[in-house]
Amino acid sequence: MTEMFPDHVELEVEKRRGRILIVDDQPLMIRVIHQIFADEHELFMATSGEQALEFCQNNLPDLVLLDVVMPGMDGLETCRRLKKDERTASIPVIFVTGQTTEEEENECWDAGCVDFVNKPVNARTLLKRVRSHLTLKFQSDLLRRLAMLDGLTKLANRRYFDQFLSQEWRRCKRAGKPLSLVLLDIDHFKSYNDSLGHQQGDDSLRMVASAIARKAHRPADLAARYGGEEFAVILPETDLPGAVNIGEQIEQSVRELQIEHPSSPVCNVLTVSIGVASMVPVESSNPELLIKVADQHLYLAKNRGRGQVCAEDNTSS
Ligand code: GH3
Ligand code: MG
Ligand code: MG
Repeated sequence: MTEMFPDHVELEVEKRRGRILIVDDQPLMIRVIHQIFADEHELFMATSGEQALEFCQNNLPDLVLLDVVMPGMDGLETCRRLKKDERTASIPVIFVTGQTTEEEENECWDAGCVDFVNKPVNARTLLKRVRSHLTLKFQSDLLRRLAMLDGLTKLANRRYFDQFLSQEWRRCKRAGKPLSLVLLDIDHFKSYNDSLGHQQGDDSLRMVASAIARKAHRPADLAARYGGEEFAVILPETDLPGAVNIGEQIEQSVRELQIEHPSSPVCNVLTVSIGVASMVPVESSNPELLIKVADQHLYLAKNRGRGQVCAEDNTSS
């Protein structure tokens, strides 16, 4: 998940090369379209609806050029399925179709396409349409990413944390798998700011955020800024010992940053207190309880002297 939040967000929308999937049961048609785009985009091909769906689920292209009439699953059904799956729903689909009756056009719109181009294909029309839909796609990708991002640390923000936690709660509940949460709070950060200045405080927040992101390295993990100097890591399909292990690694790696904290009574470098909780989600429980338990353990870590990890098994609750 961390790769969704790169250090440098791609702002030059126009310069990005598009990843386009061409779907047609006739290889000749694929070749024609291929020639039209030459080197402008990165092209992939599929010769059936089934193949196209599989490709999209695994590779999330930026745009799909879809033939309507194909043996097996036709283009309309393929498009409907892409739109129904939340992972692939935002991929724009342009139909490449020989059919032009009003009714057939309406069927294409109803299936969820953004546009269509008639066969035989006018190369300029196809190029222009694809270019403008790709620009729109890149802009909406960027907006979506920025809306999920914490500006200072480039981790996920609180809004995205909430959304991701309830999504993973539902997913782990269906799968009967544990879901873990690691909550962190920087120790004596107020006095750090007071003695070294807010700017230095911001720099340290960024360094701590990077240390956390490096330890939440599985694709399904999510590191977020939970509040001012509080962070959270969601660890799907991870049990309590696994989550405690990540918590301890984070605690250690923040110490190893060796950020001097002259006014800290805990240690001469910046430390964090960490609370961990883990549950197998059940109907009678909810994500708020997971947060509450992790928060109680964080409070315990603070009370026991800070700069440590506290956890307790809650898998049965
Ligand atoms: P404790 O060990 O109990 O957590 O003590 P603390 O001083 O860290 O806790 P407290 O909640 O009293 O203070 C949190 C401080 O974090 C307040 C503020 O100075 C600092 N802080 C919060 N957000 C930011 C931020 O975005 N930038 C900077 N530089 N400091 C922040
Ligand atoms: Mg705090
Ligand atoms: Mg604090």
